[in-house]
Amino acid sequence: MSGPDPETKMQFLYSVRSRGVTDQKVLEAIEAIDRGMFVRGIFTDRAYEDVPLPIACGQTISQPSVVGMMTQALEISPRDTVLEVGTGSGYQAAVLSKLARRVYTIDRHARLVREARAVFEQLQLANVTSLVGDGSHGLNEQAPFDRIIVTAAAEDPPSPLLAQLKTGGIMVLPVGQSDHVQTLIRVRKTEDGLDYDELRPVRFVPLLEGLGKDT
Ligand code: SAM
Repeated sequence: MSGPDPETKMQFLYSVRSRGVTDQKVLEAIEAIDRGMFVRGIFTDRAYEDVPLPIACGQTISQPSVVGMMTQALEISPRDTVLEVGTGSGYQAAVLSKLARRVYTIDRHARLVREARAVFEQLQLANVTSLVGDGSHGLNEQAPFDRIIVTAAAEDPPSPLLAQLKTGGIMVLPVGQSDHVQTLIRVRKTEDGLDYDELRPVRFVPLLEGLGKDT
């Protein structure tokens, strides 16, 4: 991270750690990516607060501690290929890119993908591929994935995503109704089936069908 002054940076990392992100590699990935690059306009001043913030198209950049939690729950190894559904600002994908071999990230809003891609280029994150599409169908061309993360809430884990997860793979996603507090869950795909565990309550924008209109 190069943007914030040392005091702000220390506070930022402290707030992420104090909310349960203890994996050193995840903390290093968060430290390496300047969240200020992914926040625009009047909200840039608040980039280092542990809060979600508005971005274009009526969407949000997630809270840094939630980004850390979800990343930690994925247990990524350097050989992994990760699919993220819900590029948004691109911040989560950038953090993932520091831990995985390759990251595919997909969003239904072309404008968000365009803006995130510009930041990935600026940061020279060569292992991130961003695409426009309805990610609830996954990304069949690149499947199967070692890890899948969904950063928008569905009532249930979308079955195409479960199908595109490797055996031995992990998927992390919020489930529940969009106007309620949802539950962050982790799904492990084993030889014997799917194991689910509940991680914590969260609140995400909904996973919607089809392509979005740019605003
Ligand atoms: N991961 C993002 C970040 O780091 O800024 C935050 C994501 S934001 C909370 C949720 C995103 O999911 C929005 O950008 C929204 O457009 C996207 N989304 C919702 N439904 C989708 C779908 N079916 N396919 C792809 N993206 C979707």
